[in-house]
Amino acid sequence: MMSNSIAVELGQRLEPDLLETCRRLGDIAEDGTLFIVGGAVRDILLGRDPVEVDLVVQGDADELAQRAVQFRLALRTAASQFMTVKLTIGTREMDIATARSETYESPGALPDVAPSDIETDLGRRDFAANAIAVSIGSMDFGRVIDPHRGVNDVQAAVLRALHARSFRDDATRMIRAARYASRLQFRLHAETEAWLKRDASNISTVGPDRLRNEFNRLWREEKPVEGLIMLQSWGVLDHLPTASNWVSGLYSFSMSDREAAVRPDDVDDADVHWALIATTVGTEFETLTDTFHLAGSSRRAVDDIRLWKERGLASFNEAKTTGRPSDFTDVLALFEPAALEALYLTGDATESRVIASYLGTWRHVQPELNGNDLLEMGMSQGPLIGKFLDQLRKARLNNLVLNRDGEVQLVRQWMGRGSAVADES
Ligand code: ATP
Repeated sequence: MMSNSIAVELGQRLEPDLLETCRRLGDIAEDGTLFIVGGAVRDILLGRDPVEVDLVVQGDADELAQRAVQFRLALRTAASQFMTVKLTIGTREMDIATARSETYESPGALPDVAPSDIETDLGRRDFAANAIAVSIGSMDFGRVIDPHRGVNDVQAAVLRALHARSFRDDATRMIRAARYASRLQFRLHAETEAWLKRDASNISTVGPDRLRNEFNRLWREEKPVEGLIMLQSWGVLDHLPTASNWVSGLYSFSMSDREAAVRPDDVDDADVHWALIATTVGTEFETLTDTFHLAGSSRRAVDDIRLWKERGLASFNEAKTTGRPSDFTDVLALFEPAALEALYLTGDATESRVIASYLGTWRHVQPELNGNDLLEMGMSQGPLIGKFLDQLRKARLNNLVLNRDGEVQLVRQWMGRGSAVADES
């Protein structure tokens, strides 16, 4: 695509406020020094709308940020780190990076970084399709810089590493390859595939945090299992503890097959995947959490799968004897929604049906009356109020009452009969 048509595509594909922001930044940068790079350029060439743009300035990102603030175009939000600045422009946050070179001392080590020109910056990137820059300077808006023939690759739907040592320098690129290939339906260039397979064992040189971050990004894709199958076929998973079973475990319940209705909004797909993986690891939960430094909600999701196997399933089966939604809710409320989502995907028909009801409805059920209402009805302050509210919630869950009036009647009955009766529902 010629620069003119790229300029036109930029105009059409970028959200208007983002385009305007890019143009204004281009105006205040020294001419020919500010570029859109990476995924946004690739997506524009593919006719997709980019969500975000990464900007690179040849020179000093810090200085450009100061000028943007001086010209009242931006609020600066973060001091420069790794030669990158964060700017707040309108409602958007944007990162501007200084064009740089990277050299790797040893496989898996963090690179030595130094300021450089745009061509060198493109030369440190993962794949040629991601190594294209488009100028957003006022004089040469839309000029394409493509030293690695990335435009050809995008058109041919190919992922091509820039040199034979690419996966040795940074083995997370293997996971990135799987992510892009599955998302964009690109294939690996034959030589790249050979390099990747040759260096597959280098995945074990990557630290746990970088590994987890890169896998998290795979888990958040539309079809993570496709990417995982690629990693398996390239021999990468064989070199990660617990990972040799992942594909067989995850294959039958790829996330994209789920009913949308059961997918809770407040759940991170990354956590669901770690939980799904936890169902495949036998007793090796600690190996899993250690290998990927799982923490926070991901860690809790994995711990909950263990807890489910140890105790949860037994309590769930007990709740089946009454079949009451409130009894199921008592059990399921102890588990993270992400873990429950994984159990919904892997469980038998009853488990899936009940968990879907819990995630979709039951966990949100609350009585309409609140503590003040109960005080106004003549109850006195004290723990009984909490108990009544909890019993009202259960009564709502079990459809013993359907509305506020029903709740009022029930509370009156309980008040008439004393505290013990509240346990009935
Ligand atoms: P996405 O479409 O998922 O947003 P992206 O291309 O924006 O992808 P990022 O991970 O944000 O992906 O990276 C931005 C750019 O930085 C990539 O396009 C790539 O050129 C480069 N990059 C990121 N990580 C690496 C890496 N490990 N090795 C080499 N280049 C990388």
